[in-house]
Amino acid sequence: MRAKAKLYPKEAARLLREKPGVREAVTGATLHFERNRLRAYGEVSIGAWRERAKAVKDHVLSHLDHYLELAERRLRENGVQVHWAETLEDAHRVLREVVQRHGVRRAVKAKSMLTEELGVNPLLESLGVEVYETDLGEYLIQLLGEPPSHIVGPAIHLSLEEIQRLFHERFGTPLDAPPEALAQVARKVLREAFLTAELGISGANFLVAETGTLALMENEGNIRLSTSLPKVHVAFVGIEKLLPRFQDLALFLPLTARAATGQRLATFVSLIQGPAREGEEGPEEVHVVLVDNGRTALLADPEAWETLRCLRCGACLNACPVYRQTGGHPYGYVYSGPIGAVLDPGLLSLEEAYPLPYASSLCGACLEACPVLIPIPKLLLTWRHRAVAEGLTPSWEKAAMKAFRKVMESPALYRLFSKALRGLPLPQDLLPLLRAWTEGRGPLKPSPKPFHELWKEVERGG
Ligand code: SF4
Repeated sequence: MRAKAKLYPKEAARLLREKPGVREAVTGATLHFERNRLRAYGEVSIGAWRERAKAVKDHVLSHLDHYLELAERRLRENGVQVHWAETLEDAHRVLREVVQRHGVRRAVKAKSMLTEELGVNPLLESLGVEVYETDLGEYLIQLLGEPPSHIVGPAIHLSLEEIQRLFHERFGTPLDAPPEALAQVARKVLREAFLTAELGISGANFLVAETGTLALMENEGNIRLSTSLPKVHVAFVGIEKLLPRFQDLALFLPLTARAATGQRLATFVSLIQGPAREGEEGPEEVHVVLVDNGRTALLADPEAWETLRCLRCGACLNACPVYRQTGGHPYGYVYSGPIGAVLDPGLLSLEEAYPLPYASSLCGACLEACPVLIPIPKLLLTWRHRAVAEGLTPSWEKAAMKAFRKVMESPALYRLFSKALRGLPLPQDLLPLLRAWTEGRGPLKPSPKPFHELWKEVERGG
């Protein structure tokens, strides 16, 4: 997928101006997820769960070569065809070969952020394959020709009215059709697709190295159908998705569900162990594509590698007051919100993803929410420091920071400026831009005396 992260500030402003309903829809949905997460975290010893999960992921990431080779061996023993994709083009080549060898005309696809990253749908379409997103939210945005707005809830930015209008135009349903009726229409279309598709495509929440097991979580049952009805299943798996042992799933499945939606466990968990054996129903061929696409380079980055612990649960998006204003589209790349702000510069380049590390108030809510304790605020600062060092920040900001530093380093200058500024009109009275910022807040009123004078009085016993 081509990144348009550079346009973030403009796109965010445009969306707020032109689609004010998005803010309401995203805020409502994320606060709902957030309440559920807090309740679900409160039911267990969440501190110990998170520490344990972090330790397991850190262990895997620091022994990734070993676990990848083990996973490959186990997958092959299970009858799975394993492919390595260092780049997006490698992943495309694998998929193209499968499509051509099997003469695929129709594919069903389970929701997967990695397949968005790889641009799987445009590739399939260019090969003449009719592809159906089978997660209801993904199906909606596919009909609209939009990318997902959220890792877990791709269509959370849509209102019921927008969906009713979409279905009215596409399927002729009444404009006031209730959600149940709309779901029935989608179900009918997708059922037909499940039964006729030659190819099923998925990602994976986890790949267990010890047993070569793919673990997939969902609530709609569409992943189970996508991976079991077509005769060929291709799973794209990021190399960071490994877990060492089967028993690790006992921690990671409920932890991810609690973080993502506040559920104790996802409604459906599929554990895929290879193609169907004699007497079993299921795909005749299973392919696992182990995708790097920038992950090894990120792992080698001593300041940013922790990003790879991410479970793609979306909890940091739900907790983020900045993401909540716009949803994911203005971020201009697959991964949005706090995790996008630190992952995108790592997967793309800082230059390509430049303004994203600034899309945060640094309030720390993302770290509070993250089930694997990714230090997102610290990572945001790392990328910001690098942006300054690489000269990506605007020149007015550099000049302002230089001047600020000069003043802060000199007590005499500091006193002079704090005295002089006190006599000037308040900034919100001068600049309309600042007025917009201060509108919803109390007036900025400096105290009659600066702090250093007050402190002197305290020292004198005043
Ligand atoms: S950074 Fe943490 S909270 Fe955000 S999606 Fe990844 S695992 Fe979930």
